[in-house]
Amino acid sequence: MGEYIRGVVVKLHVTPEQEVLFKKNYGCTRKTYNELLNKYKDKYGDSNKIPTKNELNQFLKESKKELPYLEETESTSLQQARDDLHKAFKNSFKSKRHNTPKFHSKKKIRPSFRQTIRKEKRPVENNTLTLRKHGKVIFSTSIEYLDLLNSPNTKFNNITVYYDGLNHYASFNIETNPPEQLPLTGKHIGCDINSNKKGWLVTSERQKEFFDVNHDNQMIKHINKLMSKCRKRSRRWKKLQKRLQKWYNKRTNQLNDYIEKLTYNLQFIKRLKDKFQLYKSEADGVQFVKPHNTSRTCHYCGHINKELKVKTRNYVCPKCGKILDRDINAAINILNRWFNGD
Ligand SMILES: [Zn+2]
Repeated sequence: MGEYIRGVVVKLHVTPEQEVLFKKNYGCTRKTYNELLNKYKDKYGDSNKIPTKNELNQFLKESKKELPYLEETESTSLQQARDDLHKAFKNSFKSKRHNTPKFHSKKKIRPSFRQTIRKEKRPVENNTLTLRKHGKVIFSTSIEYLDLLNSPNTKFNNITVYYDGLNHYASFNIETNPPEQLPLTGKHIGCDINSNKKGWLVTSERQKEFFDVNHDNQMIKHINKLMSKCRKRSRRWKKLQKRLQKWYNKRTNQLNDYIEKLTYNLQFIKRLKDKFQLYKSEADGVQFVKPHNTSRTCHYCGHINKELKVKTRNYVCPKCGKILDRDINAAINILNRWFNGD
């Protein structure tokens, strides 16, 4: 099984001295980002050239010489600011408008810095976190997360520390074992609710429930046929076009309305129970889980496919090569998420 990457956020309890150091680090990270961007603009002006990592590194070295106080802060967090800028340039090239990265203003950007963790180093011991240059920080979190962070199977990639205006938080990027999987023939099923006609309700047992839009489809077909018989852009043609659009709208609205009503109406849970009572005599409750990334995560290896678009219904996992049906994969992930208590 491959590694399973996930994020865990904990609340930090900092001493007044650490608070000063943190704020310094936030400032220096932002300063580095802006300074490198400034140097880039001096050199290239408004051209669309993407600077290489080496170039940005050179800028970083120069900035450190010009601004000696940057040397006082933790060095990997400055390198991470450099990497962030490099990523911002790459992303700007990908987007259609080619917007070059903007300066990080104090008002708009959440103060944060990111430290990388050297291999074989464990930054967490019980409920204390050791950050380079900042020393030991006590944090609080749930028992499950504490176990996860202290488990020998957990590998740390990096730690982002941020400030929301009241408290400081640390967000861990960790690699763990994939979550345990429930056998798919068990008493529990995961359901994914969609707004498309490829099945609005999909279960982890590969059942799909289709919403009946047959009548609408027939009408659309019928009007299309009528339209093909008359002269293009004639009065009748235009009338028919309006009617066609009406049916199109009706079809989408109906679908969306139905799903919206079902999800937000408590009646839905009852109906869902009744529905599954038919073949799940022991169905005892319906619970909701957080839906983020359920379609993008491969349920075999836990790889998160960030490039996946909404339109792609079937795809091959880039990591383990398994073929996944987007909806069924999501339903299985929902089931596992519930089982693992996330
Ligand atoms: Zn996979």
